[in-house]
Amino acid sequence: MDEGLDFAVKYPFSDSARKSLGDIQLTERIVELAVERIRKAVRGDDSARVVFHESDKREEIASFAAARMILGHLRNSYLTNRFAINESKIVRGRINKEDERTVDAVAAQFGIASAVENGMMLLDLPTYLRYSVRDPHYKLINRKLFSGRVEINAEEKKRLVEEAVKKHIERIPTVKDPPDIIKNAGKQLVAEIPKTEVRMTVKAGDHPPCVMRLLESLKNHENLPHHARWFLAAYTLAIGMGEDDIVKLFAGAPDFSEKITRYQVSHIKKKGYSVPSCATVMSYGLCCAVCRIGSPINWHTLEKGRKDAINAEADNAAKG
Ligand code: SF4
Repeated sequence: MDEGLDFAVKYPFSDSARKSLGDIQLTERIVELAVERIRKAVRGDDSARVVFHESDKREEIASFAAARMILGHLRNSYLTNRFAINESKIVRGRINKEDERTVDAVAAQFGIASAVENGMMLLDLPTYLRYSVRDPHYKLINRKLFSGRVEINAEEKKRLVEEAVKKHIERIPTVKDPPDIIKNAGKQLVAEIPKTEVRMTVKAGDHPPCVMRLLESLKNHENLPHHARWFLAAYTLAIGMGEDDIVKLFAGAPDFSEKITRYQVSHIKKKGYSVPSCATVMSYGLCCAVCRIGSPINWHTLEKGRKDAINAEADNAAKG
């Protein structure tokens, strides 16, 4: 269904956007706009650009496609993840101001079609699971299910749409041999990536599997849900890492803000929160092994004990 040009500008991943592009040619102006769109994502600027003239609107839509082409060529997880998060936030800001019919039209782009029955908004389970957020609130154990459908509310539907936009953008297809104008734009962007340094050198076995997995996600510039960040901050504080080093550790997050991270780490330290137990980490959906140690923080004591036992055995063997 064609929702018109204004809808297409606001939701450049939509069918209406694809239709409105027609045979538009890639121009320097479009690539410039695409580069600026990606730069905005790196800066974390999720303000929406407003355009009035029809030609500007078409260029704006094309800039989204050109940005995807640049990212599809670069295959840079940092830029792609920042772009995915920023664009999904922009969409969220927009749908917050839309009427229900328009929200449904955006949701429909991803097959999110809820139905209201007996005063409940219901969504089929596979779609819910596809776009569900990594947050305990969205876990099935905390949801009401009716005949294979999950009850959601209007706010949650918008959150699922935001997640769907992010996932859609993260899955950018590879662009092997784009025009030179795209290759050059890509080189320019890579040269501008802030050089962040993750100081923590991690060897296999240094931390429990749940923590290793989170560190790996940060290294790959993947977004971590709130609970995962909180857990990682509490854990790294508990093992004695300094606040500055913890902040640097989070620099790999695609939506990293030094000011916010520093504030949150200090807050966790000031409150003296302890590291959650394995059962709690499991309820966050972050447990990925069966360690039988009660709490991830026990990893260190147990690992030290294990290493001491191995060393003692080696000493005894050497003494004959
Ligand atoms: S069992 Fe505990 S320490 Fe091991 S992965 Fe799960 S939460 Fe982490």
